Amino acid sequence: MTDASLPPLNQGTAQADGLMLPPGTVAPQQRRRARRYFTLSFLACLFLALWLLTDFVLPDANKAALSARPAPAPSLIMTNWHEMAPMHRRNRTVTMKKNDSLAALLTREGIGPIAADAALDTLQQVFDPRGLKPGQKVRIFTEWPQDSDPDSQIGRFAGFDLIPSPRQRIILRRTGHLTFDIIDQNRPLSDRYFVADALITSSVYEAARSSGMAPSLVVDMIRLFSFNIDFQRDIREGDQLEVLYSRRFDGGNQLAEEGDILYAALTNRGKRHAYWRLEHDDGNAAFYDETGKSVQRLLMKTPVDGARLSSRFGMRRHPILGYTRLHRGLDFAAPTGTPIYAAGNGVIEKVTRSREYGRFIRLQHSNGYETVYAHLSRFARGLKANAKVRQGQIIGFVGMSGLATGPHLHYEVLHYGKPVNPRTLDLPPGRKLDENGLVALQTAIAGAQKRISSLAARDNTLRSLPRRSRASLSERQAAPSRFAVPTARP
Ligand SMILES: [Zn+2]
Repeated sequence: MTDASLPPLNQGTAQADGLMLPPGTVAPQQRRRARRYFTLSFLACLFLALWLLTDFVLPDANKAALSARPAPAPSLIMTNWHEMAPMHRRNRTVTMKKNDSLAALLTREGIGPIAADAALDTLQQVFDPRGLKPGQKVRIFTEWPQDSDPDSQIGRFAGFDLIPSPRQRIILRRTGHLTFDIIDQNRPLSDRYFVADALITSSVYEAARSSGMAPSLVVDMIRLFSFNIDFQRDIREGDQLEVLYSRRFDGGNQLAEEGDILYAALTNRGKRHAYWRLEHDDGNAAFYDETGKSVQRLLMKTPVDGARLSSRFGMRRHPILGYTRLHRGLDFAAPTGTPIYAAGNGVIEKVTRSREYGRFIRLQHSNGYETVYAHLSRFARGLKANAKVRQGQIIGFVGMSGLATGPHLHYEVLHYGKPVNPRTLDLPPGRKLDENGLVALQTAIAGAQKRISSLAARDNTLRSLPRRSRASLSERQAAPSRFAVPTARP
């Protein structure tokens, strides 16, 4: 490279800088520059004033909706558009961030503060945006007069819509100059049914997931079986799982939320455990076997998922203290942060810490039972003494606080103050259905059977495809995709 290829640094910068030239020669240039600065700042102020006082969306934030062509002079958008119909519309979906607010989001999207305030004031008449969570999607609309070219103009803020919960849609619509109206819409959802039918090769969780069930439903299902099946000891390769469950879809065929398990059966070493969901008049639902006995017991067998039993109940040498004494509970090894569930309905007796147990919780249940959860890394938020907890509610997370050599849950069951072995505990059976309940249960069983048969019949029509396994067959049926539904279902 030669010097000639470089830009002529010296002359250019020195002159533009102005400092190195004699005073007399500078004046005309400075005047020109001052004029240029004045013009630019005037335009900038004008633009800012327009943004503040009116309601168009800043072109920068609206990049997605606009082409690369230069924005026109602001005067073009000063017309009172609301008096001119019809309009072009475009929308852009944005997502709320952590510690975000709707107001901040609108500002980021280039919507002027006066228009944003007017919009939020209207919104607040029916909906409090402070309840929105990170990840919430907001669809923002921008509009243009129809006889104009949207690509050559800056759009005007026309409102937004959002779905704060599966059954609710909020639509904020512009009606005039800085006026909006709000529609609080009920989204009707429809249930569709799916069957997960899988052979267990590694774990119940894996089998259920691979046949298309959402993680939240799989956890519900495991909890359901956990009253009668010990997942660490009892599950064998070749066990069979069959689950009928629902998912809820909106009018546009989009998955709005996961539904319920209606029936779940696990054939474990030749023995079939089958339960049906029954909704009670009070709106609560429970699962029953075919004789009408509730599957839920006073306490769950294992108050933590996916854990490995690492120390049994009974006399043992303490790993840290060194001497032999009674191990008053069970230890479940699990990664730090694994959720811990309340084993039964009850009241929080203690949420505290001690030298030996670290962070621990003691719950009081009916029939003289208490449960203890120790070595927690943290408690669930808002947990207070004397508060009620539901069975299966997350109360804390696995850790190694106190005297512990690794992350695990130390779990105790006390019966009238005396430690008992949670594994061999003979808990009082769940409640039994009365006559009316049994009739309702028979209806639920027949309904579930009918749905499974009709789904299987649909499956048979698909049999021209090579059949790999039962699990893969239901995969096509139950795991269509994350959110889109490929086929209509009865
Ligand atoms: Zn222990």
